[in-house]
Amino acid sequence: MAAFGTVFMPEMTLATFENSQWSESQVVPSDRLQLHPGAHVLHYSSTCFEGLKAFRHQNGSVCIFRMDANIRRLQQSSALLHLPEFSAEQLSSMIVEIVAKYASEVPAPPGSMYIRPTHFGTDPAIGKAAAPSLESLLYVLLSPVGDYFTGGAQALRLLLDEDGARCAPHMGMVKSGGNYASALDPIIKARAAVKADQVLFCPNGDVQETGAANFLLIDGDEIITKALDSSFLHGITRDSLLTLAADMGMKVSERELTVEELLERAAKPNCEAALSGTAAVLAPVGTLIHDGKDYAVGSAQEGPTTKKLRQALNDIQWGLAEDKFGWLTKV
Ligand SMILES: *Cc1c(COP(=O)(O)O)cnc(C)c1O
Repeated sequence: MAAFGTVFMPEMTLATFENSQWSESQVVPSDRLQLHPGAHVLHYSSTCFEGLKAFRHQNGSVCIFRMDANIRRLQQSSALLHLPEFSAEQLSSMIVEIVAKYASEVPAPPGSMYIRPTHFGTDPAIGKAAAPSLESLLYVLLSPVGDYFTGGAQALRLLLDEDGARCAPHMGMVKSGGNYASALDPIIKARAAVKADQVLFCPNGDVQETGAANFLLIDGDEIITKALDSSFLHGITRDSLLTLAADMGMKVSERELTVEELLERAAKPNCEAALSGTAAVLAPVGTLIHDGKDYAVGSAQEGPTTKKLRQALNDIQWGLAEDKFGWLTKV
């Protein structure tokens, strides 16, 4: 099986912003881009992206999950990076056009078509370290993906990092390349030092998120996660799972969570923890590593509520349950 995100459809949709206007979107080959070596993005990281999925239903139709929310988030990321504005209609038609063109290639569940809209600054101007790019490029790349959990949902080991931070606090809510570059070194060190799968960034004891997923603590019928602020990424999977949890009658607590409270609750036998994001939906966390010690979360295995919430979201995505929140767009 090819690694996640390494297989691409041969074409993508692309539009450019030049001379104060957007070009028509075109379908172009997806294996190359022409870029000036002085392009703003290559020097000053004026780049942002999205990750969303299209699913094949049993009746053959193909549906995109929460496209409008992903488009809004890319518009917000673009605004925070001072990239040119684009309209929601423009990007939604670029997404729908390319997914429709490759609809027959959308894998059946548990696979899906991963959709990667990307927007970056192309001004050939290396003197613009502190000025926005006035030109940009927007494209929509497709990558068919298989089952995230081949071999079962293995519970993850997370290192709690209270000293560092994933990225600059005012950039946390931007899905931008520089944030992943800034988180890479601590993640690689945590893998080597304590065999952690991921780092859970908890600056000054404030439990935030990992390098590319949100963190949820599930204690009985209460689900606890950090309230939205600019310091971390506002996951659409997080929002969807909290909506489903509330709908199932669970108590949803969006508030500050300290490392101290996390370790205290994790020691309870039926406590669960999980990471949420588009790739996996919800991945179980079995162990927290803190000050050189391992702390099991509950049973250290995937818990029943994690499984139930993931199934509920998958059922909507896969067309097996009613789309009662209007999350699917049929292509
Ligand atoms: C993309 C991402 C998430 C998850 O967002 P979804 O919309 O649920 O896919 C969480 N944290 C970070 C840092 C991310 O980049």
